[in-house]
Amino acid sequence: MGASLAPGQPTPCVDPAPLGASQAEVRQESGQREVFCGLTSIVWLHRRMPDAFFLVVGSRTCAHLIQSAAGVMIFAEPRFGTAILGERDLAGLADANDELDRLVRELLERRPEIRTLFLVGSCPSEVIKLDLARAAERLSSQFLGQVRVLNYSGSGIETTFTQGEDNALLSMLPLMPTSEVEQLLIVGTLADGVEDRFRTLFERMGISSVASLPPRRSTELPAVGPGTRILLAQPFLSGTARALERRGAQRIQAPYPFGVEGSRAWMAAAAAAFGITPPQVAAVLDPLVERGRQALEPHRRLLEGRRLFLLPDSQMEIPLARFLSRECGMELVEVGTPYLDRALMQAELDLLPPGTSITEGQDVERQLERVRASRPDLVVCGLGLANPLEAEGMATKWSIELVFSPIHGCDQAADLAELFSRPLRRHSLLSFG
Ligand code: SF4
Repeated sequence: MGASLAPGQPTPCVDPAPLGASQAEVRQESGQREVFCGLTSIVWLHRRMPDAFFLVVGSRTCAHLIQSAAGVMIFAEPRFGTAILGERDLAGLADANDELDRLVRELLERRPEIRTLFLVGSCPSEVIKLDLARAAERLSSQFLGQVRVLNYSGSGIETTFTQGEDNALLSMLPLMPTSEVEQLLIVGTLADGVEDRFRTLFERMGISSVASLPPRRSTELPAVGPGTRILLAQPFLSGTARALERRGAQRIQAPYPFGVEGSRAWMAAAAAAFGITPPQVAAVLDPLVERGRQALEPHRRLLEGRRLFLLPDSQMEIPLARFLSRECGMELVEVGTPYLDRALMQAELDLLPPGTSITEGQDVERQLERVRASRPDLVVCGLGLANPLEAEGMATKWSIELVFSPIHGCDQAADLAELFSRPLRRHSLLSFG
């Protein structure tokens, strides 16, 4: 096993079965998938918790994935790396646990500022059945008082793209203290500036106790208990939401904070859960809403009436489709999502135009056939599909950018819309230039 710092194309599963959501039409599809694996989420999680380190226990492919996903950010001292499983590890000729312990010891000697070490499982570590939960326990007791060692899986066999964050948060949950105190808990990684803005707005509405998961310092985990109301900032945190509910927290039903409408409804739902009246909410949010709508207008003019196809990748597709159709006037050809958690998505499904075609899961070849047949103006998809579609003359948007950009909140609605209007503008310049 060596140390260094890869794209995962997990594959599987076909079985179309129309289900029917509230107003939308949902079909399930399985087959070849084109989705990044959960390791990708390390790229935004390490930025959120600068005192943590993410050690992928994987192959050179895994190392390449993170390196390319993180791109230029590796200038700085990286807060992630890969313990590379060599051929001897994979063949069972070397004790991978001994190697891992040695590597962790060396890492912690070199980097004494690390407070939480995440051992991140991958396809290779799963295939050789390396027990990272036991390794984390063993290393936690070895480094007791210095570093907490946690583990979770980012393997492409088990996770897609954004599920890595769900698993990382789940691994932190047992360390969260219990408390009955009334508080709002925002769950899901937000850019620090965006989070500060939400906190200010909640405070102005009268919610003073606001905590976040993940926290900015990995050791300052929020408490959870019956007084906790959870507000999901990201739509892909099913496991974490349910685990927090099992700890007594109540989940606030709301659309996600994308666009002016979604952000207002998200904050208003939190305010209602704390007994704050609609006029108090309006006094704080209405000026923001007005400003957000004005900023959105130039983008709406570009996007209105344009046809959009979202391929399944980030699990943010349904909230984004709601924003792009309702606030930007786009026409939805098809909305793909890797998984559909109806409990977490109900408020969004209710807002989609009646008859919206939703696909849960993926059979990439069949989906691409539908893309080609419908010739949408814009396709939102993973990196692996964008170039071939561009070569066929279609404008695309990489869905990975949506997770790396600060897009939450009324103030960010125009920036979010620009992420979709820019490729259209570029495409028309190239077509006519
Ligand atoms: S975890 Fe699996 S899918 Fe992800 S990069 Fe490693 S080998 Fe590829």
